Amino acid sequence: MNAPYVPGGLRSKMSRQLSRFLAREECEVLLDHAIVSFTFDDFPKSAAVEGAQQLEARGWRGTYYACAGLAETENHHGLMFSAEDITRLEREGHEIACHTFEHLDCAKASSQEIEASIDKNAIALKAMGLQSPLNNFAFPYGEVSPSAKLLLNERFDTLRGIRAEVNRGRSDFNLLSSVPLDGGEAGIGRACEAAESLMKHPGWLIFYAHDIQEPASEWGCTPAEFARVLEAVDASGAKVLPVDAALNALAEVTV
Ligand SMILES: [Zn+2]
Repeated sequence: MNAPYVPGGLRSKMSRQLSRFLAREECEVLLDHAIVSFTFDDFPKSAAVEGAQQLEARGWRGTYYACAGLAETENHHGLMFSAEDITRLEREGHEIACHTFEHLDCAKASSQEIEASIDKNAIALKAMGLQSPLNNFAFPYGEVSPSAKLLLNERFDTLRGIRAEVNRGRSDFNLLSSVPLDGGEAGIGRACEAAESLMKHPGWLIFYAHDIQEPASEWGCTPAEFARVLEAVDASGAKVLPVDAALNALAEVTV
């Protein structure tokens, strides 16, 4: 088992805070019908199997932010995805998106390192059988800098962070907010509350998950907890779409 890398430090914290205000790509998320996107980071085999099965049982699909360098390795999330998961998920209509090749800390890496990493990730995922391009990106660890936002904006339709909010009104498509599916009883309770809030205040709620297993890691949730969140989303009446399809739906609303 690899010990998880701990990002951060004062410079990273300042960079993360500045990044909320700089290098923004502002878009209006004004919806009369809420949208929910389930996303999975890194991503563990359990997200590809248990996560996908629960979504598909409701006719829903998700977005998988893949790090090809983690494929078939084992870490604190358990076993990670394989090439077979990539082709099956894509065939079933899920979106495969980019999370850098090696789970790079984009607040600390140079522009050249970030570019090399996303190129390497695209090539590796294609070699695993992925057909579609990688259109959306999530920052590993939520670590971000204004320059990384500008650089990645050139390559992707959206960039996702980990600020736990619903995207409503004027939103930054270079740093979309997302609510974690972890933290045990309290964390899952907050995720369900975010879904319930959509009934009064529509918006685009993006969840991000890691492993979905029993017992879950510190950054994961159990199959039963995941099911609870799906139930809350179903009760909210929100439309559930992968990130790429959500963007299309938003474009139709705002045109
Ligand atoms: Zn990650």
